[in-house]
Amino acid sequence: MVTRAEELNPYENAKKQISVACEYMKIDEGIAESLKYCTREVCVNFPVKMDDGNIKIFTGYRVQHNKARGPVKGGIRYAPDVNMDEIRALATWMTIKCAVVNIPYGGAKGGIACDPTNMSIPEKERMTRRFTYEISDMVDPEKDIPAPDVGTDAQTMAWIMDTYSILSGGQDVYGVVTGKPIRVGGSRGRASATGRGVMFCTKEALKHKEMDVKGAKVVVQGFGNVGSWTTKLLHDEGCKIIGISDASGALYNDDGIDVYDLYNYSLEHNKLIKGYPKATEITGKDMFALDCDVLIPAARENEITSENANSIKARILVEGANGPTTPEAEEILSEKGVLIVPDILANAGGVTVSYFEWVQNMQRYYWTEDEVNAKLRDKMLESFEDCLEYMEKYKVDMRKAAYILAIERVADAVKVRGIFP
Ligand code: NAD
Repeated sequence: MVTRAEELNPYENAKKQISVACEYMKIDEGIAESLKYCTREVCVNFPVKMDDGNIKIFTGYRVQHNKARGPVKGGIRYAPDVNMDEIRALATWMTIKCAVVNIPYGGAKGGIACDPTNMSIPEKERMTRRFTYEISDMVDPEKDIPAPDVGTDAQTMAWIMDTYSILSGGQDVYGVVTGKPIRVGGSRGRASATGRGVMFCTKEALKHKEMDVKGAKVVVQGFGNVGSWTTKLLHDEGCKIIGISDASGALYNDDGIDVYDLYNYSLEHNKLIKGYPKATEITGKDMFALDCDVLIPAARENEITSENANSIKARILVEGANGPTTPEAEEILSEKGVLIVPDILANAGGVTVSYFEWVQNMQRYYWTEDEVNAKLRDKMLESFEDCLEYMEKYKVDMRKAAYILAIERVADAVKVRGIFP
């Protein structure tokens, strides 16, 4: 029996997921063990001048998990509860995710423990620039490439790119981060990429379960970058979005929520959905228990646990967020026959288009939005197909299949490179 604290430790969960997958494969024990460690972990404490004249000390992290398949890649998160174990877990999942969609990267992650919602734009800029300086010996377009995550956006990436370029002697180093604004080296289609990937996976999962896409009832937790794009794109495909929540509350409308109208409402209300008049306000707990076909957690980790898994009625769970389902909850859902499309596949659209952005930066040649979206579609459908094949081959669920596929690819790279010296 695991304790609640153990169930909610994402790093322990990431390691558990690796161990479980390795049981199904022939893999060198030492290589399997190495995947449960991050190769480099840095914690920095640094001062920032606040608007009121006081100096505040912030704690930031950058963790590189495994670089056997290429430079490491992973987002930067700004949130009050950011901590080393969370960043380690997210870095580990990035290695696995990049291998699932077969892009030439290892995994990394970073973050600062802060509350960006209570900071002014100049405070966030000073904090971001100082943090970039503190980790400037780690990031590099050929070694470690950050991207946006919870609490950070294209503007944050522009500050990191600009600071790094200044520290590098003045030339523009666009390739050091992805998720930048288009006018400074960003890729068309990057903002919508994670949600678009979730949409492709949702459609494929419905097809796999022989369920109709048109009219499918969908519930989405989170209405930020991933949640808002996922709902808009699924709405365009004919799905009915009957429940949506964010940090301010949850909404329900069995006839379907007009997500574009809700998005415009949120833009006028501090990016929050509370108070939207054309739906009924419910609790987040009740939203998870709604009678629906697809449930998409797109907020944070550990939202579906052994405490609420039993109440879930959805037949398909598509993980837009990283680590939203604990292994204990997954057991309960699997027994109920719920198909879980794991995060390492479902939300890989973001890192895939980040890879496209990096390639475009290196070539100084930029693609159209249609080209980006078409290449993303090919990548997501191919990866979904690969995971189905591994499910069949190993007689396992989709998460284990994706882990086995990814670990095979990472282990092959480690093996062929050899261990130095
Ligand atoms: P974001 O900051 O843009 O949005 C997060 C959303 O979650 C907000 O709407 C917030 O209000 C909501 N939220 C927070 N706590 C909540 C709660 N308790 N209940 C309901 N809603 C809550 O972040 P994002 O970029 O959309 O990332 C969301 C998730 O997707 C994270 O797990 C992130 O790691 C993952 N992810 C993001 C990307 C990307 O490209 N942005 C790529 C891959 C994975």
